[in-house]
Amino acid sequence: MKFHPLAAVAAMSLGSAGSAAPVLAPPATLGPQVQPYVHLPAGQIAIQHLRIIDGTGAAPIDDATLLIDGSKIGAILPTGSPVPAGFRTLDGTGETALPGLVGMHNHLYYLQLPNLDASGKFEQPIIIPQMTFSAPRLYLANGVTTMRTTGSVETYTDLALKREIDAGRLVGPHLDVTGPYLEGPGSFFIQNHPITSPEDARKEVAFWGDQGVNSYKAYMNITRAELGAAIKEAHRRGLKLTGHLCSVTYPEAVALGIDDLEHGFFVNTQLDPGKQPDKCSDGGGTPTLLKMTPGSPEANALIKLLVDHHVAVTSTLPVFEQDIPSHAPLQARQMEVLTPQAKEAYLYNRNRVASRAGSPRAEQSLQAYKNDLGLERQFVAAGGLLLAGPDPTGNGGVIPGFGDQREVELLVEAGFTPLEAVKIATLNGATYLGLADRIGTIAPGKNADLFIVKGNPATKIDDIENVVVVFKDGVGYDSARLIQSVKGRFGEY
Ligand SMILES: [Zn+2]
Repeated sequence: MKFHPLAAVAAMSLGSAGSAAPVLAPPATLGPQVQPYVHLPAGQIAIQHLRIIDGTGAAPIDDATLLIDGSKIGAILPTGSPVPAGFRTLDGTGETALPGLVGMHNHLYYLQLPNLDASGKFEQPIIIPQMTFSAPRLYLANGVTTMRTTGSVETYTDLALKREIDAGRLVGPHLDVTGPYLEGPGSFFIQNHPITSPEDARKEVAFWGDQGVNSYKAYMNITRAELGAAIKEAHRRGLKLTGHLCSVTYPEAVALGIDDLEHGFFVNTQLDPGKQPDKCSDGGGTPTLLKMTPGSPEANALIKLLVDHHVAVTSTLPVFEQDIPSHAPLQARQMEVLTPQAKEAYLYNRNRVASRAGSPRAEQSLQAYKNDLGLERQFVAAGGLLLAGPDPTGNGGVIPGFGDQREVELLVEAGFTPLEAVKIATLNGATYLGLADRIGTIAPGKNADLFIVKGNPATKIDDIENVVVVFKDGVGYDSARLIQSVKGRFGEY
């Protein structure tokens, strides 16, 4: 998506500078841990009377025959066309196919706040256990066929998970493994190497590049010089770097060559009062967002800067929805996958936020949220590449997979059409990853990475939740059985 002349030169001269396994591995034989979740083995399948939302933003085809030929999409035929010999026919009446979701802010861990009490107090240190068992299943079950981990805690574990999934030994989506948070001293959590200098940042990027990560993420306490050194080393390896920033403002990060900015417009600190260079501000971006109303001169200038420099923005609305007192509660199907402790923590937090209703703080959260929605729409209208992900971290309120569907629903609430929202969550992610020729839309010749839901998300976006089957490389996975296998487990492992 972004052209880096220096990176191209370096890649040519250094040959195998990076050692990352590709995000999309060739399909492997599926082992005994995966087989129980296979609903339809790869083969020649014709699904008739199916509605198809192809992910380009185009109007749906209301009645088509979709041919899946091995690991690829064979063809989309008009209704009534003869089915080629050898294809098994299935009836898709009342169902809709969508491209597999490309989750661009999807973690594989769960944040734990020790001894969290009803007032929201907890003790340090914050601990982040891995959800290496439950999260990949929840993602795949809910239609996510490719995802970026967007910041890792146990990076070796995430790399090993990718290796096992790619080898057919564990079940889960295609992974873009992001390295550990590139973060200075004063990190939010203890399991992170604190970067101390630009050379240290470069070494950290180089080390994890050699271990095989696919991408990088900078975090809230990093200096401009450290971020610049990290970006340079990432680009030298032909890899991209995103950031959940605070100490570095959005315009500063653009000038340093960042590829993507996480959390929409929530964490830009350029107008925060008292912002010191290279230091995170107290407001963490909220004062800037409150000032930066959509269409204001400040907003217009920032959006032009991002679009001109081809910097993507990742929308993570589900995690911010949690700060709105009137936000939707978790559905029963989501509550069921949480451990009892995670359920309790979620309910504490939900009550705490609900009790703020009408307070100045709640009004501020609501205004910031509204401004962000408007800015995300303005960014897309100006030609910006908006990506989507739920950011499932703490408090149980955002859950892998379910959260990816919620992100699409919230994009529609923000004013995007359902077809635009689907495109943001599919083709745009594929485009950013440089994989749009293989995934992100339903088109002949592309990988058969797609999912089928009951209903019609083009008119009722909530139907995206009614997943029947998820195809990854032409293998149809049983959504319900995957979810059943992690009931009561998310938050534990
Ligand atoms: Zn995150």
